[in-house]
Amino acid sequence: MTFTFVTLFSNLMQGYFQDSILKRAIDNGRFTIAFIDPREFSLNKHNKVDDTAFSGGAGMVMSPQPLSDTLKSLHEEHDNLHVIFTTPVGKPFTQNDAKRLAQKEHLVFVSGRYEGIDERVIEQYADELFSIGDYVLTGGELPSLVMCDAIARNIEGVLGNSDSLAIESFETPLLEAPSFTKPQHFQGLSAPSEYLKGNHSKIAALKIGLSECKTKFFRPKRLITEQKRKLYEK
Ligand code: SAH
Repeated sequence: MTFTFVTLFSNLMQGYFQDSILKRAIDNGRFTIAFIDPREFSLNKHNKVDDTAFSGGAGMVMSPQPLSDTLKSLHEEHDNLHVIFTTPVGKPFTQNDAKRLAQKEHLVFVSGRYEGIDERVIEQYADELFSIGDYVLTGGELPSLVMCDAIARNIEGVLGNSDSLAIESFETPLLEAPSFTKPQHFQGLSAPSEYLKGNHSKIAALKIGLSECKTKFFRPKRLITEQKRKLYEK
């Protein structure tokens, strides 16, 4: 699996892969990363990559030529690319997308900057458009890293213990139950004693109860969806 990042600011991104789980996964050959700068493809004599918007207004728009030529050259060099554009107006990225995209051979993430990207490049090259939430950032680099991280941990062998994937929040309708570690008593607060007694069925029942409470509080819509699904199954 390869992740290629199309960005004007690869320096902002590279550090993220230089430590911890993703570094280990790259060292072990679980996936590879590459960066490509559209400025290198600019035909403008000053290597310009943006211009004023036709419709007026403040801010610059990323010009179509450098980005289009970058993506064209990637397509010429590689088969089976899946090209994702980052944009606040895209489909909200979810855990299901992370799992689905972990099966792809080569993902390309395009980071916009300024007021965004000339729509014709998106029209021509995007396989999918994703947003990481209803807020506006200064660029697509963080969204690309967020999605890459969520996808990468679903690639076989990236996480040490594959069990840690199955029971996580968003893998089931319920959010994950609260976690505790030693010591049992900490600053006047105790971890649930049932967790420590070793009766696995009781622990499981308690965790489901705690998961339901958490889901009701933080994501009530997930419970309603699950209740509806059960009704239809009957
Ligand atoms: N003018 C645009 C915002 C541009 S922000 C608008 O109002 O829709 C500049 C770039 O940051 C975008 O091209 C995109 O690549 C990235 N970006 C900003 N917020 C984002 C978000 N919530 N999700 C994904 N990408 C985002």
